[in-house]
Amino acid sequence: MSENTTGSIQSVSKESRRFTPSDEFRAGAEVKSRAEYEALWKRSIDDPNGFWLEQAKALPWRTAPTKALEWREPHAKWFEDGELNASECCLDRWKGTANWQKAALVWEGEPFDAQGQPEIVTLTYAQLHDRVVRLAAKLRRNGIEKGDRVAIYMGMVPEVVVAMLACARIGAPHTVVFGGFASDALRDRIIDCGAKALVTQDMSYRRGNEVKLWEAAKAAVEQCPTIATVIVHARRPDHAAMDDAAFQKRFSLGEEDYDETASPTMMKGKRLVRFTSKGDGKFAAGEGDAVALPAEHSLFVLYTSGSTGKPKGVLHTTGGYILGAHLTCRYVFDLKPSDLFFCTADVGWVTGHSYIAYGPLATGATCIMFEGAPNFPEPDRLWDIIERHRVSILYTAPTAIRAFIRTGEEWPQKHDMSSLRLLGTVGEPINPEAWLWYHRVIGGGRCPIVDTWWQTETGSIAITTLPGAVDAKPGSAGLPFFGIHPKVVDQEGNEVAANAGGKLILAGPSPSMLRTIWGDDERFKTAYWSDVPHVYTTGDGARKDEDGYFWVVGRIDDVLNVAGHRIGTAEIESALVSHPSVAEAAAVGRPDDLKGQALVVFVTLKSGIEPTDALRKQLLDHVSKEIGKFARPDGLRFAGALPKTRSGKIMRRLLKDLASGVESKGDTSTLEDLNVLAALRGASE
Ligand code: ATP
Ligand code: MG
Repeated sequence: MSENTTGSIQSVSKESRRFTPSDEFRAGAEVKSRAEYEALWKRSIDDPNGFWLEQAKALPWRTAPTKALEWREPHAKWFEDGELNASECCLDRWKGTANWQKAALVWEGEPFDAQGQPEIVTLTYAQLHDRVVRLAAKLRRNGIEKGDRVAIYMGMVPEVVVAMLACARIGAPHTVVFGGFASDALRDRIIDCGAKALVTQDMSYRRGNEVKLWEAAKAAVEQCPTIATVIVHARRPDHAAMDDAAFQKRFSLGEEDYDETASPTMMKGKRLVRFTSKGDGKFAAGEGDAVALPAEHSLFVLYTSGSTGKPKGVLHTTGGYILGAHLTCRYVFDLKPSDLFFCTADVGWVTGHSYIAYGPLATGATCIMFEGAPNFPEPDRLWDIIERHRVSILYTAPTAIRAFIRTGEEWPQKHDMSSLRLLGTVGEPINPEAWLWYHRVIGGGRCPIVDTWWQTETGSIAITTLPGAVDAKPGSAGLPFFGIHPKVVDQEGNEVAANAGGKLILAGPSPSMLRTIWGDDERFKTAYWSDVPHVYTTGDGARKDEDGYFWVVGRIDDVLNVAGHRIGTAEIESALVSHPSVAEAAAVGRPDDLKGQALVVFVTLKSGIEPTDALRKQLLDHVSKEIGKFARPDGLRFAGALPKTRSGKIMRRLLKDLASGVESKGDTSTLEDLNVLAALRGASE
């Protein structure tokens, strides 16, 4: 290996474009200048107690907290003597205000009628509240109590939000398992958090097909002894129309097949309950009421997306989390009750938790939810939704943006998207070229873009550019949010010089940060609070420029060692994506006897472009030109698609194994499509 394996990371990006917010946007924003932002941020770091107690007034507490942080490294407690309920923060608080009769959720289903129109359901805050109260009563009547875990395995339907809020209402922590996972992944998560109930649904629609949720759910609960109750929402119209007896029969848990001699962990004794049915309104007074919970009561467990290894059950508690989700909506998305906010993530990921369910509802905005996929029935599903409903804010991921670039500008151009006023991106570093495309084609050149760096673990946005306050720089995540103190450090924890790469750490806890890993506090300590002493390790590599902006250069585990230079994956990939033929790229290192590590890149081309040897050479030359001769890849493989997690992130660890010719041993349960790996195995360099 080359000698420079432990040294700092070198940043090679030359990106220097910047975008200043318009005066018009600035005028309406919460924070209007960099000076104002800096004063607030400084106060949040110098006087966290004062700052956070003041900010916490934004929530409807049952008992207001008198102290903010109690810190016993690595365990934080926030607002410990305060009491509140997350579902009240999202719903009951709007009673008696103009928001109450306004849409909380606007939902579009996938099946389209003969005119190409989808099914649309709108729930006002009053209606959403009513549904949540009913389900909360139902959960209680079925023996689910405060502290019991409830797994939720559903598609993108309004009922999934109802289920989350109903759990929050009675103090039962939920764990939402992405509906695209197979039954084994569901089973493992249920077992890991010991869920007592499962809320699921018969099926959902995706790309014209039925996603058979019930089949997977049934197979999973058979192997889950802790599950006592299964609540099923009927999505398919003929299921929804069934009477209770027919429903019981159709969705039987198989108890008739129960074998007395089999283990007592079989299906026997599991109760099957319908999500909603006629007469559901008949519950005792108070049965659906929200309970006052201590701020540190567990709100949910959510498993990370598994880009780097086995998913971790991240635990979030009530007060700090809701505050983080709400404040970032207000400051980062400039979210107002008059906005129609469209976050395209699935509720199975933290982005869906914080920016479909909790954040926007706690801010009184209207949220769009859709069932299906962005490229079905045509590649303009999102643009169609934006035009139809007059969406004002769009929040999506670089992986989606790169897919839109690949299919071509003609799709967004068919639609009037003049209602958009702000765009956001999350999930991976965004390549500057993709950022510029998003700005020009989707934002019509007028919408500010907020790049938002955060993690399942941080609970809400941690690094971003407040849209009316500071300039955006394409490819940079931006500046720290209030209470967040990121630094780029070397192995010893010393801050490195401006523009030098290193480990991205957070100097201390913030209200919405995870409290632990469910059932594994040791892993919590080793994964986050031990690599660099006394700080939170994010696992990402970054550099901070002379202006204080953070640039995430990739995962620390994926850092490349190119001819003695340690370089983040994102910078090599951005260089490739800046070539007009390239849609997407992934860079990995392969052990090499001579060089220590050889650089191998995987490249997906824009539609209609042929992979030829001439193009391969052009792309290799392009990287040499953009970064330097030393960074010329040793191998380039064209790929029809790259292996991604179910949340759309490139899984470089699998590509690394592939490039090195070794069998992948790590967890692949979150891989989206196994065929992608098989197809890549045969590709030449
Ligand atoms: P696992 O921790 O299981 O490997 P994961 O890290 O992909 O999974 P998430 O919590 O969903 O799970 O993702 C957080 C990570 O996503 C961040 O640590 C970072 O690497 C990346 N990320 C998210 N947003 C951004 C962004 N705006 N810019 C750069 N990277 C981002
Ligand atoms: Mg992670």
